[in-house]
Amino acid sequence: MAAIIINGNKIAKKIEIKILKKVEKRKKDKKRVPGLAVILIGNNPASEIYVKRKILACKNVGFFSQYWNFPCDINEKKILDLIEKLNNDINIDGILVQLPLPEQINYYKIFSSIRPEKDVDGFHPYNTGSLCQRNPHLRACTPKGIMTMLNYKKIETHGLHAVMVGASNIVGRPMSMELLLAGCTTTVTHRFTKKLKFHIKNADMLIVAIGRPNFLHGDWIKEGAIVIDVGINKLKNGSIVGDVDFYSAYLKASYITPVPGGVGPMTVITLLQNTMEACEKYHDNQ
Ligand code: NAP
Repeated sequence: MAAIIINGNKIAKKIEIKILKKVEKRKKDKKRVPGLAVILIGNNPASEIYVKRKILACKNVGFFSQYWNFPCDINEKKILDLIEKLNNDINIDGILVQLPLPEQINYYKIFSSIRPEKDVDGFHPYNTGSLCQRNPHLRACTPKGIMTMLNYKKIETHGLHAVMVGASNIVGRPMSMELLLAGCTTTVTHRFTKKLKFHIKNADMLIVAIGRPNFLHGDWIKEGAIVIDVGINKLKNGSIVGDVDFYSAYLKASYITPVPGGVGPMTVITLLQNTMEACEKYHDNQ
């Protein structure tokens, strides 16, 4: 059996058109366009690429965007001061601080300082907590993007045994909460998990986010499993691969996401959706 490939670019394009129409309508109604502030600290090449993509995505739908790039030895206070300014800026609906952060900048302090209503990455404790309590507000982009993808493909998630491989703050943990919310029986695995292959073999749906190229081989998965590959790994020859060995998994899975062109574009488009949501829900009546 060969899997159906879930084309993230195609789904993201459909959502982009919907957002574009909303922006046009806002302009007609003499409302301001949604605004996103992007902060990059340092010059990590991958982060620079992600940030450029996000700014371009804003431009493509007619959002207002502002961009700051600070040297990696910047002190935390300067970032906190800027966030405070943006928290009070009526033209800004979303504030994004690109990860990873340099060592002297405290992740928890930074994300707790962003107003939850402008936390379009969904990393503020209020937003992660709300998702845990089945009352989501702004939701982390990659996990929400994956759920959108499953909905577009009309994949029934209730009752599936989902296995999350990886438990990071930005993907694995919020994804496990999304899976619970979607009615999956959910197993979360991480570096200390024993019998990883056993868990993987039992999965009806696998979401893999560990950052190791081609780590998970098709032999490990159950025939007909749904395979969502979050990994983005650059090989020495310059090519980009996921955490799943694509071809061997493709032969066993029922659905599979490619890398590139699967989860990546969904993450970016979800950021735009979240910015639009923050604008309409929290800031239009200010
Ligand atoms: P991360 O912060 O490095 O977290 C990796 C997670 O994988 C950790 O929870 C770690 O466990 C776990 N892990 C490591 N080795 C493992 C193993 N052998 N078995 C089971 N779990 C293992 O990475 P991340 O930020 O979540 O990103 C993961 C990958 O997704 C990267 O390739 C990244 O580039 C990509 N990514 C893609 C998108 C997208 O839009 N497509 C978005 C974000 C990230 P511990 O918690 O025990 O350390």
